[in-house]
Amino acid sequence: MNAAAPQPLDLDAIRAQFPILTQKARGKRLAYLDNAATTQKPEAMLQAIDHYYRTSNANVHRAVHELAERATLAYEGARDRIAAFLNAPREQIVFTRGTTESINLVARSYLQPRVQPGDEVLLTGMEHHSDIVPWQLAGAKTVAAPVDDRGALIFEEWLRLFSPRTRLVAVAQISNTLGTINPIADIVREAHARGVPVLVDGAQGIAHLPTDVRALDVDFYAFSAHKLYGPTGFGALYAKREHLEAMDPWQGGGDMIRTVAFSGSTWNEVPYKFEAGTPDMAGAVGCAAAIEWLDALGVERVAAHEHALLEYGTQRLQEVPGLRLIGTAPHKAGILSFVMDGAHPQDIGTILDLEGVAIRTGHHCTMPLMERFGVPATARASLAVYNGADDIDQLYAALMKVHKLFS
Ligand code: PLP
Repeated sequence: MNAAAPQPLDLDAIRAQFPILTQKARGKRLAYLDNAATTQKPEAMLQAIDHYYRTSNANVHRAVHELAERATLAYEGARDRIAAFLNAPREQIVFTRGTTESINLVARSYLQPRVQPGDEVLLTGMEHHSDIVPWQLAGAKTVAAPVDDRGALIFEEWLRLFSPRTRLVAVAQISNTLGTINPIADIVREAHARGVPVLVDGAQGIAHLPTDVRALDVDFYAFSAHKLYGPTGFGALYAKREHLEAMDPWQGGGDMIRTVAFSGSTWNEVPYKFEAGTPDMAGAVGCAAAIEWLDALGVERVAAHEHALLEYGTQRLQEVPGLRLIGTAPHKAGILSFVMDGAHPQDIGTILDLEGVAIRTGHHCTMPLMERFGVPATARASLAVYNGADDIDQLYAALMKVHKLFS
């Protein structure tokens, strides 16, 4: 193993691979800082999808002709690539529409059949609605551990909230609103010591932290391709084999069955018993291409780049009079949420847009967290591999305009 510090990234070369970033926005240079919502797409991923449709498109698994064989190879090859990225066995990767669907699958197929009235899912106060509502729909009570004033999970409080009714722990790898990186290894260790399985919502983690699901020993890991430089509408669920085997399918249709009769049906092997209907073949191919692209850069180098930029951004934003950062946890990824005296986040977003700066404003699908911090909404700038100090400087200049207008 090479223990040397990660090599800096060649930002110009990276940016040149993102056609969308060469555009202007409102006549200004585009500073795209809405990456927690979705990332932009590199040429390699766009070409992979284009190539798939031009050369290999057919329905998978069900025909003997050459195109179907090619489509199946591409689709199953994508599963290999995605599995390798997470260090998972291929048959433990279930393809879904994204993080939300992956969590709903676990809620419906794993939790719901096992849940009794009063049973609990233990969360943190920083979870996305996608990691709250599915558990409630499955009939569980959601219990959330508090976060401190900096936005870090209060671990002792989280431990205190375990009860004999705790059926599952679910936690974001990285908070989409605060940027807080949660201590997944500690969480898994403590939950397992109490016999409770753990689902990790990897929506914000997968593109920004090296992730090894087996080393972390998580039971379930959910992610979306579109937050990883891949296409929208595609994602996956990793799950331990014993869970997948014990879970019933949640959707019925083609491909998920072994036999069908009017008297009853039997299920295909894992992971196919969870993949009913014609899947998103191009999505799988695009996701694998995005992973290939990111892996070639090295997630550790990307994380180091984004961390340096986060530090620079934190410093610059603190120079803006009347700006308050929401989320300053010691372990943090590239997300800068803030509010400003006298300016509603919606106004901040609108003014920044006129300056070519794309950020997100609102509750970020974390309403309980907004309540915790006593704000209706925040403005949020979120970083990705193609961002640089120039984007932060453009954000800073635009925020100074907001300050002048509202002070
Ligand atoms: N969890 C977190 C932490 C997120 O940030 C998001 C999306 O913003 C989701 C879940 C849901 O992801 P998707 O909408 O891609 O299913």
